[in-house]
Amino acid sequence: MTESAELIATDLVDANRILAHFRLLDAFGHVSARTAPDRFLLSRNLAPALVTYSDLVEYALDSEPVDGGGHHQYLERFIHGEIYRHRPEVGAVVHSHSPGLVAMGLLRGLPLKPVWHMAGFIARGAPLFEIRNTAGDGTDLLIRDGRLGASLAAALGSASVVLMRGHGATVVGKDVRQAVYRCLYAEQNAQIQLSASGLGELQYLTPAEAAAAETAVEAQIDRPWRLWRSAALLPASPPGNADA
Ligand code: MN
Repeated sequence: MTESAELIATDLVDANRILAHFRLLDAFGHVSARTAPDRFLLSRNLAPALVTYSDLVEYALDSEPVDGGGHHQYLERFIHGEIYRHRPEVGAVVHSHSPGLVAMGLLRGLPLKPVWHMAGFIARGAPLFEIRNTAGDGTDLLIRDGRLGASLAAALGSASVVLMRGHGATVVGKDVRQAVYRCLYAEQNAQIQLSASGLGELQYLTPAEAAAAETAVEAQIDRPWRLWRSAALLPASPPGNADA
């Protein structure tokens, strides 16, 4: 790998551990990172808390390993390849089953919208992916092939998060750290929205507030990244990797 791909891989291993530590991922769910326009890294089929550098596999946009296989792979790897294919600017993808986002995916009358300044990115939309529209009402809800992955990517459109009814959510970012940030704060936004929604009329951020807050907060991602690495008991950054 190139030097920049090595740094991306390091962040990707950390992201696996961080998302597991904060219970956004458990035995299931996964996070990937793009290393070239037509390549991305994703762990072999493994619980994210157990992922190490040597578990990362290089994939092409068809979601098949570049080296031809021999790996036990995630069934839902097509989520990643198809989103990278449809969104050239996306650098990282997290697919989770976190409960607040699952709940929001069930409520037709209550769309996920930004309720606080940490989640301004949600203002660009949080569309709902309904697998029944693509594959009927008898599936296991998993994104098992490229056709389903392409349908999910189409539902995501230009948004940062797509809710998957009865399943989970997928969040994208320009890089690993932003995708992790958005995964954490989309879930917290969902929990706040759910906890307040039964008590009265909700006040959402205006589009201008959401955009301004997104710019201000996401410029500071390296600060929470250091905290998250520490909380997940990851080793101290090597000298010279100042922003890790
Ligand atoms: Mn899943």
